Amino acid sequence: MRPDFALLPKPIASRLAKLGLKRPFDLVLHLPLRYEDETHLFRIVDAPLGAPVLVEGQVLHAEVTFKPRRQLVARVADDSGELNVRLINFYPNQQQQLAAGRRVRLLGEIRRGFFGDEMVHPKVRSVGNGAALAEALTPVYPTVNGLAQPALRRLIEQALDSCELSDTLPPALLHDLGLMAFGPAVRLLHHPTPDIAQRDLSERTHVAWLRLKFDELLAQQLSMRLAYRRRRDQTAPVLRPAGALAARLVAGLPFGLTGAQTKVLAEIRRDLASPHPMQRLLQGDVGAGKTIVAALAALDAIEAGYQVALMAPTEILAEQHYKKLSAWLAPLGVAVEWVAGSLGKKQKEAAIGRVERGEARLAIGTHALFQDAVAFERLGLAIVDEQHRFGVHQRLALRQKAGGTAAEGGEAADAAAPNRVEPHMLMMSATPIPRTLAMSFYADLDVSVIDELPPGRTPIKTRLVNDARREEMIEFVRKVCSEGRQCYWVCPLIEESEALQLQTAIDTHAQLGEALPEYRVGLVHGRLKPAEKAEIMAAFARNELQALVATTVIEVGVDVPNATLMVIEHAERMGLAQLHQLRGRVGRGALESSCVLLYSAPLGDLAKQRLKVIFETTDGFLIAREDLRIRGPGEILGARQSGVPMLRFADLERDAALLERARDVAAELLERAPQVVDAHLERWLAGREELLKT
Ligand code: ADP
Ligand code: MG
Repeated sequence: MRPDFALLPKPIASRLAKLGLKRPFDLVLHLPLRYEDETHLFRIVDAPLGAPVLVEGQVLHAEVTFKPRRQLVARVADDSGELNVRLINFYPNQQQQLAAGRRVRLLGEIRRGFFGDEMVHPKVRSVGNGAALAEALTPVYPTVNGLAQPALRRLIEQALDSCELSDTLPPALLHDLGLMAFGPAVRLLHHPTPDIAQRDLSERTHVAWLRLKFDELLAQQLSMRLAYRRRRDQTAPVLRPAGALAARLVAGLPFGLTGAQTKVLAEIRRDLASPHPMQRLLQGDVGAGKTIVAALAALDAIEAGYQVALMAPTEILAEQHYKKLSAWLAPLGVAVEWVAGSLGKKQKEAAIGRVERGEARLAIGTHALFQDAVAFERLGLAIVDEQHRFGVHQRLALRQKAGGTAAEGGEAADAAAPNRVEPHMLMMSATPIPRTLAMSFYADLDVSVIDELPPGRTPIKTRLVNDARREEMIEFVRKVCSEGRQCYWVCPLIEESEALQLQTAIDTHAQLGEALPEYRVGLVHGRLKPAEKAEIMAAFARNELQALVATTVIEVGVDVPNATLMVIEHAERMGLAQLHQLRGRVGRGALESSCVLLYSAPLGDLAKQRLKVIFETTDGFLIAREDLRIRGPGEILGARQSGVPMLRFADLERDAALLERARDVAAELLERAPQVVDAHLERWLAGREELLKT
């Protein structure tokens, strides 16, 4: 009988839902955590110590004792020997099972106890003489309180019996890939026979595991590529200007574009000139020079008669973009508008009005810009900076907002509706992510990479300094300031308490202020209002503040070339990506810069590994790869916010080869076998439509 979720008792259904199980097929894919071997009976004398074993015997004696605490103690014998059994927490039915004279099977580890060999808390089952042994290993499933293994097992059993487990993939393909058929693979994983090495199961290297991992990766690739195609089928304005505005901007720059910048700009231009919406991610390490590329793309769109939106994750960053871009674009006669969340009501309305009437050609703001009711007169290009801050779902929401304002009718039409004119989308990210992760996370985007830093940068010197030498560091700050340079001093991330984090920042600010009376020391933290933060950042940028104590709010994008020293307190608590981003705040000009990582000894292993990596390299991609190795993908992308159909079975590092194959197979199936695509996605993603909408 198929477990009909609608008919299940509410409490059961809600516990299943907690496990993410919402339809019978989810049960099929709910794989065991581990297995118990009840296929083999040991004689008590032969049973190895310290590993789970199954023994069977007669209860000789049982009693509840109270010393040293309440417990049920029994003695069980088979024809080879005897064993003590001890249950500290027990139910009346266990007491009945273990009554003198009963026959029981016990599954547990035997330990050499003070009073002879004993099993503590074995699984106890009553048996008549000669009851059959299990033929397969007994699965132990991940579960939640209130849903016992036997009940969950029964439900999964029913699902395995009733769900369609035939293959979604053609036999020839499976043969080529050397993969097992689907039905036998899942059955095997639920009920492996005892001859299969436990290790192949726990390490997920068994061929049955490979099949599940491949299917999962394939489903992910297919859904993301389909999302890509669906958007690709929409209409976008063809932006093919002569490029006069862009050429004028380039001519006025104090620097020439790097080869990498020129290359990615050409890729973007090719997209803009096509009648389908661009969906491109521009990746480039911190300081690689993404902003100028975005500005040039914006000028193309503007010259073609369209408006451009530029969104940044924070107000500080948005303001900085506003300043930089107005300095570049205003001389060319392009009206740039800053739609800041912190503007007064009247000013904001005025700004929005200029956007709506089309007087503003480039509108810059936080993504609130799009969440509020800003309707562009004619939006041709939407640029999202630091997009890694946004998850896939947010990415989608932004796109829909952007789209909703671009339609000729202006109505918030369904994203899939035909004849809609979508804006082109350019997303920028400074988080270099390893190739495997990119293949997975960004499979719905085209990716351009700026893989070269502008010339003339002096490499940043990184130093690891024990926090005990804090005084020396303060002297170092004085020295840097005395040379006319500026410093960041970043306070530790205190995850447990924002209040505590704020307090340390306030204390450090006071300490630095006292130690450096000849300089002005600022303080910026997450509790300030956006306008206050922006004001402090602006003062720092104008060199009215020589040192800036900050919680990690400065992590993103801020550009003050005169700042040449970054001190990071309790660097051992920070992640690699974050350290890399922070360090990238200095070394932005030709001046020699340094980054001091203050740590408190003793360091844990993980912290040591991280600091070693950050000390040894400034290559963002290398750092990202190490980060993936140390933390795993969920952590890097922030599993909660990434919104990516997170992989349950496959591991991006270990299964990189499978991922590559899945990607190739996905492309081929989309081309040649749409019915296979449908069947595969139906199996893997039905009921999870939210994952398909990316
Ligand atoms: P990011 O990619 O981190 O956003 P930015 O766009 O802020 O980097 O650029 C960092 C700095 O490098 C800026 O001051 C920018 O003006 C400068 N820059 C960008 N491109 C070049 C180049 N080709 N040559 C020299 N400096 C450049
Ligand atoms: Mg930037």
